[in-house]
Amino acid sequence: MHELSIVTSIMEQSLSICKENKAHEIKEIEIEIGSLSGIDKSSFSFVIESVKHSYGLGKCNFVMNFISNNRVCNNCQTSFSADYFLGDICKKCGSGFLVLKGNSEVKIKSILIE
Ligand SMILES: [Zn+2]
Repeated sequence: MHELSIVTSIMEQSLSICKENKAHEIKEIEIEIGSLSGIDKSSFSFVIESVKHSYGLGKCNFVMNFISNNRVCNNCQTSFSADYFLGDICKKCGSGFLVLKGNSEVKIKSILIE
C-alpha cells in the first residue's frame, strides 16, 4: 500500500530526529501532504492509527495538512485556485490552456519533541 510506505518512512524519520536530539518523546508530528500526491486522507490516518503503537508513538498527535494546488495559465502565468473553472478560460488573457500545478510531496513539516 502506497500510504503504508510513506507513513513508515515518516515515523522512522521522526524517531531518528528524536534520537539525534536526545529527546524522550515525540509529542506531535505535522505532516504536509501535496494535493497531487494521491494520498487518501482516510486511509492515511487509518494507516497512522494502525502502525503508531509499533513505533512507540501511541501518544503522539499527528497533524495532517493538505496543501491545495493551483490552476496556472500557460500563456500569461496567472494563477487561480484549483476550484476556478469557468470553462477553463483564463480571466486575464482569455487563453483556454490552464494547467493544474501542485505538489506531490509528502513531508514532515515540523515535529515537537520533549
Ligand atoms: Zn492567461
